[in-house]
Order: sequence, then C-alpha cells, then structure tokens
Amino acid sequence: MAPHPERGPSLAETSARPLTRHAHEHLTLVDWPALSHLTSASHLQRAMKVTEQQVRVMQGPWSPASVARDEVLRGHEEPFYIMDLGEVARRYNTWKELMPRVQPFYAVKCNDDKLLVSTLAALGAGFDCASKAEIELVTGLGVTPDRIIFANPAKLSSHIRYAREAGVTTLTVDSDTELLKIKQHMPDAELVVRIRCDASSAQCPLGIKFGCDPLLEAPRLLKLAAVLGLNVVGISFHAGSGAGETAVYSRGIRLARALFEAGDAAGHRMSLLDLGGGFPGHHGSSIREVSQVISEALSTYFPSGGVRVIAEPGRYFAAAAYTLFTLVHAKRQLPAEGEAPPHTMYFINDGVYGSFNCVLYDHQIVTPELLQESPESPTPCSIWGPSCDGLDCVIGSCQLPPLSIGSWLVWRNMGAYTIPVASPFNGFPVPTVKPVLDYRLWVLLRDVWSSTGAVFSHSSPPPSSPADCSPSSSLSPSPSPEGWARGNDLCELPNC
Ligand SMILES: *Cc1c(COP(=O)(O)O)cnc(C)c1O
Repeated sequence: MAPHPERGPSLAETSARPLTRHAHEHLTLVDWPALSHLTSASHLQRAMKVTEQQVRVMQGPWSPASVARDEVLRGHEEPFYIMDLGEVARRYNTWKELMPRVQPFYAVKCNDDKLLVSTLAALGAGFDCASKAEIELVTGLGVTPDRIIFANPAKLSSHIRYAREAGVTTLTVDSDTELLKIKQHMPDAELVVRIRCDASSAQCPLGIKFGCDPLLEAPRLLKLAAVLGLNVVGISFHAGSGAGETAVYSRGIRLARALFEAGDAAGHRMSLLDLGGGFPGHHGSSIREVSQVISEALSTYFPSGGVRVIAEPGRYFAAAAYTLFTLVHAKRQLPAEGEAPPHTMYFINDGVYGSFNCVLYDHQIVTPELLQESPESPTPCSIWGPSCDGLDCVIGSCQLPPLSIGSWLVWRNMGAYTIPVASPFNGFPVPTVKPVLDYRLWVLLRDVWSSTGAVFSHSSPPPSSPADCSPSSSLSPSPSPEGWARGNDLCELPNC
C-alpha cells in the first residue's frame, strides 16, 4: 500500500456539499485525501477486461431513481438494478479515512459483479475468496495473489491445489483435519487460525459453522501446526454478518492478542490480524462507531506497527450501491372479511427466487418506495414475486398508496447477498445491472476507472422529475454514508 496520504479536510466536512449541486465544478483529490495515492499507483497487474459492462457517466443532477425513470419511459418490463459505482468509491474512501491501518479485503461472495470487484481492485482493496471460482475471478481481473486471502475454513483439496498454482498462499483454518489437508496440498501456506467471536446479535450468525474455540482449541491448533511444520501467521474472526454490536471487535482483538503470544511461543511468526466482516452497508448506516472501537482496541492490544491488520467487509461495499426497480404487473383485490379491511395483492416481476432471496437467506427486511409519488393514502396490501409458488411472497403485509399495473417500485440497499444467489426459476429472469457514475467522480478517479476496462458513455442529464415529493420529515430519504447528499426524489413509505 502507498503510505497514508497527508490529512486534508475530512469527507464528512467536504461532503456537506451536495453531490449534485455544482455540476461543472470538478472535485479534486483534496476532497478525497484517503484516495490521493491512486492517481500515481496502479493496483492492477494489467488492464482488466470488463468490457461487457457499459457505464453511463451522469452529468448534472441525477439519482438512481431519475436514471430509472428514463429506463422505464423506454417501455421496460423486466426488473433492473441501477448500480452507483461512485457509492463504492465513496465507501472505500470513508473506510481508508476512518481505519487507515485496516486494509479491506472485499468478501467476493457478497456480490461477485465484475464491475464492483474490479472497481474495488483498482481502488486498492484486497479480496476474501472462498472457492476456486472466486480466486479465478479475482486473479482474472489482474489482482496479484498476495492481495487474496482464501478465507473458507473448510476447503476442497482441489481448490487448495488451484490456489497454490495461482500463488494464493494465505489460508484460513479452524480444525486439525484442515491442517492435515493443507500439510498435504500446500505445506508452505501462511495460515490464519479463525476463532469464534460472535456479536451479541447478527443478521446472519456465522459462529455456529466456523471458528474454533479461542481458549481451548486455538492454542492446541497453533501447537499442532508447529509440530506439522506448518506456518501460522495470524488470527481471524467473523463477528457475524450484519453484526448488531460493535464491542465484539474489541473482544476479538483482545483474544487475538493472547493467541499472538501463544503462536509466537509455539514458534510461529505471528504478523496478521484479520477482523473479518460484519460491517453495516445500508444508506444512512455508518462505520464511524465501529471504527472507533477498532482503533481503540488496536492501540491497546497491537500498538506497534509490526502487525498487518486486514478485514473482510462484504455488505459494507455492496449493499447501498445497488437500487432495484420492479414492475407491478398484476394485482388482485381481496374484499373485507370480518375485522380485516380490504387488501390488495400486488405481483411484481422479481421475487424470492430472484433478488428477494435475501428475505429468506439473508434475513433482510426490504422496504419499497414508489418511483412515481402518489397523492393517495396508503391502504393494506401484500407484495408477491412472479413465480407460481406460494412461498414467493416479498412482503406479507404493508401499506402502500393504491398502485396500478405498470407502477414501479424502488428497493434501495439491494446489493448485498442478492444477485449471486438469484435464479431464473419459472422463467423469470434475474434483473440486469445498469451501472452509472457521477461525472465529477469519473473525472476525479479517471485512472481508476480506466484500469477497470469498463466502457464509459457520457449521457446528457435525464429529464428531471416533478420533484415535489414531500414526505414528512421522518420519512425523508436517509443520507448516504457520512453525509453525502443524494437526490431527494424518492418517496419513502411508512409501515412497510
Ligand atoms: C461472508 C463473509 C464475509 C463478509 O461478511 P459481511 O458481513 O458481508 O461483511 C467476510 N469473511 C468471511 C469469511 C465470510 O464468510
């Protein structure tokens, strides 16, 4: 990594300026001090090929919804995502600014969209890969193997051999059988022992599946590795995806400190601390608090710079960059029954077999907004996916203004654990992704974008909407992370 750049104004200060206001004013790298090394440094071995993805560079005021309106006017009937590449860069910048000591290794499983992965690669991120195919994807984009951690504690032998051929030597383990397997297939690996350290609550707990006991098992694994002649270099943990607690990082770092001592005593050279994932990713969420907990714990338990610190954020980079747009293509009116008021069932063109698998697997609570605002008051309804399965229910009960066939719904924060899991079951295709990028960010990070190999087309500003959506204050769109302002033209709806 390039040395940490000189301090400039923080993103929080500079971002008080709305992104959309000064269309002609170029950003400078003073606005993004944490990224100022990027113009000179190339983080890629060679140019990447992501040519299948066209990126629209947006000038003037725009938002994902305004871009979508443009699409919808062309008579679309398929669901689609607007992906804001700039959101990924903003989040990378925020990370580097708040946790300059912690190198993010993006967890590819969260969303393996090549454009997302190659953008993070060009910005300088490393990668957490769990399989041969993920290693293939990342190295195929020009990322050197030293920027990859093979962080699946239960690996197929053939994948270990593939990693070895690819030069990926940092591997995670949490059992003695995995140590024996690695002894056979990659005896020169640099091992990271994953311990269990669960947040008090998490959207998706992972401790039930991975991570050895930090007090009983981990010291034994460190000794066994030494006896087998294997090198352990570090300790990792994963708090759980969508962790509901920040103090867990402090606990994990404290446990890791003790195991660094145990590892050194067993003859290893302990030098890598891996904080795993669990960081929030929605619009309006912030890593400020968790970054403070981490920085404090690092200065207490790992005060010297001799230890390399990484983390494996997935959701943090992917969730907010993707906004999903779905069409209401059918509806069914149910009459009032006893106490229950009349109820409308809306059918949309993406469901739990597609993007909304996140409702089942990732335990997400999804909330629709309307693409075109409605003056009418909300009425009881439910939202269903397009397949013929009764399980395919996106929201069982909510309140929306009456929608007609042809209405579009907007679903923000849909980039994490959605697209890679989606299937075209029953003949309904997985939504396409339409990437966009603000002109000023394109200018600012031109070198980064050009090294991704993506094709950029410059579009004139889309027709502006009748932007008089005026929801009550508590319902107004939440700001982007660390206060980046967004287009104010989405109506957020209550009780959904
Ligand atoms: C899924 C996963 C991550 C990413 O977790 P997020 O909560 O999305 O940040 C990181 N590391 C490992 C090993 C994982 O399995």
